Amino acid sequence: MTQNVIWKTSPNRTVGRGGVAVDRIVIHYIVGNLAACDATFLNPDSQVSAHYGIGEGRIHQYVSVHNTAWHSGNFGFNQRSIGIEHSATPERPPTQQTLNMSIARCVTLCRQFNLNPLTAIVPHESVVPTACPGTVDWEYIRDRTAAQM
Ligand SMILES: [Zn+2]
Repeated sequence: MTQNVIWKTSPNRTVGRGGVAVDRIVIHYIVGNLAACDATFLNPDSQVSAHYGIGEGRIHQYVSVHNTAWHSGNFGFNQRSIGIEHSATPERPPTQQTLNMSIARCVTLCRQFNLNPLTAIVPHESVVPTACPGTVDWEYIRDRTAAQM
């Protein structure tokens, strides 16, 4: 399935990955909608970004997968990973549409980087102490991605 990715280039990124190969996809939640994600990642003062944001039927790309986004709170982990944000809050889980779009993106990325989704797809909370990805069922994304590979 071809996805329509809308570019919203973030200033918050490091060019390249320091020679580090991509081997992880980190699942995040926005604690808001995609518009809130745009506002944060397009603001240079926020000093944060991710490669993709998904919600409300759209997928936005903020940073090239060949560059380092600032999403996990650990620069070494950022160099080896792709970050995906999902529209959701503590009270509002992501919609099935958002989950399906994420799974399709993960399938594409796992093929592109030759990753095993069962080991590559991880929650933000596995990298640093955080409440993220909250209401996003990252194991569902992982398992459905594996089933579609
Ligand atoms: Zn996160």
